[in-house]
Amino acid sequence: MKKITLLLCLFLLTQNIISQTTYILCGKLVDTQSGEITTEKTIVVRDNKIHMVLDGYVLVKSADAITIDLKSKVVLPGLIDFHVHIEKEFNRNTRLNSYILNEADIAFNSVGFAKTTLLNGFTSVRDLGGNGVNLSIRKAINEGKIPGPRVFTAGKSLATTGGHADPTNGSSRKLIGNPGPKEGVVNSVEDARKAVRQRYKNGADWIKITATGGVLSVAKSGDNPQFTIEEIKAICETAKDYGMYVAAHAHGDEGMRRAIIGGVKTIEHGTYMSIGTMELMKKHNAYLVPTITAGKEVAEKAKIAGFYPDIVVPKALAVGPQIQGTFASAYKKGVGIAFGTDAGVFKHGNNGKEFGFMVEAGMPAMETIQSATVTNAMLLNMESEIGQIKKGFYADIIAVEEDPTKNIATMENVVFVMKDGKVYKNEK
Ligand SMILES: [Zn+2]
Repeated sequence: MKKITLLLCLFLLTQNIISQTTYILCGKLVDTQSGEITTEKTIVVRDNKIHMVLDGYVLVKSADAITIDLKSKVVLPGLIDFHVHIEKEFNRNTRLNSYILNEADIAFNSVGFAKTTLLNGFTSVRDLGGNGVNLSIRKAINEGKIPGPRVFTAGKSLATTGGHADPTNGSSRKLIGNPGPKEGVVNSVEDARKAVRQRYKNGADWIKITATGGVLSVAKSGDNPQFTIEEIKAICETAKDYGMYVAAHAHGDEGMRRAIIGGVKTIEHGTYMSIGTMELMKKHNAYLVPTITAGKEVAEKAKIAGFYPDIVVPKALAVGPQIQGTFASAYKKGVGIAFGTDAGVFKHGNNGKEFGFMVEAGMPAMETIQSATVTNAMLLNMESEIGQIKKGFYADIIAVEEDPTKNIATMENVVFVMKDGKVYKNEK
């Protein structure tokens, strides 16, 4: 262990950084920009920002200096999951719950989901759709009322009538109503513009569309195209006016082709993506969000009688097992990959499993980590604020027990979590 020199001590004093400063001693430190792992570093955290990163272990004896010893750990920037549903977690009562839970019930449930997500190392998430409670969760977290990750949310997703995110799918005629742009259902270019503007008004950070059928909706097709190109273009152009990108849920190839041409930034799942569509993604600089963990989960749960409604089971069995293979082909083709899991379809907190599934499919471990940090930070237009451990960045810092390039499963066992300069977890 290197000892602090008098010189360094004087330097720190002259920099006036000793008061209310945290020194994190890192045995190994992952540089997500270069993909290198360095050894014996000290991260100096002041308030909610990384003040500097120093060589060696810096020990400061002062009443206001806090030292966190992670000398036996591997330290990384906080992880970013690009596809979660922070409001819910699927179980066999999900369908019933959609009729009996009030927004307050959903909010109470989501408090636990947000905390679990953070404690498993995900200091930022992009939330891709719920009932609008997600906007309130973001606010409560930002105001420090509940622990949770930084949330970037789409609010309520956009669908067409009967589409994957039509909120009244499968309801009795008495309850089915006629949801419109405000509720996230659009059927024309005019509706599309209004729905995006409504989301901007509600405070959404992203727009999410369900470009094709999906697995867990009470509807027959899991992959049919559900928007016209004109509708998607209207959504993307309007979103751009308000500084927002568009994410498209898509399993079927035609729906994702239209979505990419229409201007979406990310394709979620991408299950039946053709080689031609992969080329199209590269041309349009669109990113694939793999969600392999969710695919594995639905294929598994579909085998349990009564877990999903009958209409969902064949879709889950067909779509679920395909997702990892498509990810492998898309990665090999050179499609940009934005780490995302669809947590909420499976248990919140298990997001880290995705790393192992990505490595299994052929992506090197360091690239999976870069996808979950620098890539997603860039897609959030926050590449100078999160995703790296670097001077001036938010102090979103985590640690795992082992070198993830040697054992990727270590990403499922996060032992230290700091977000915005505050420690939420520190297991010895
Ligand atoms: Zn989803």
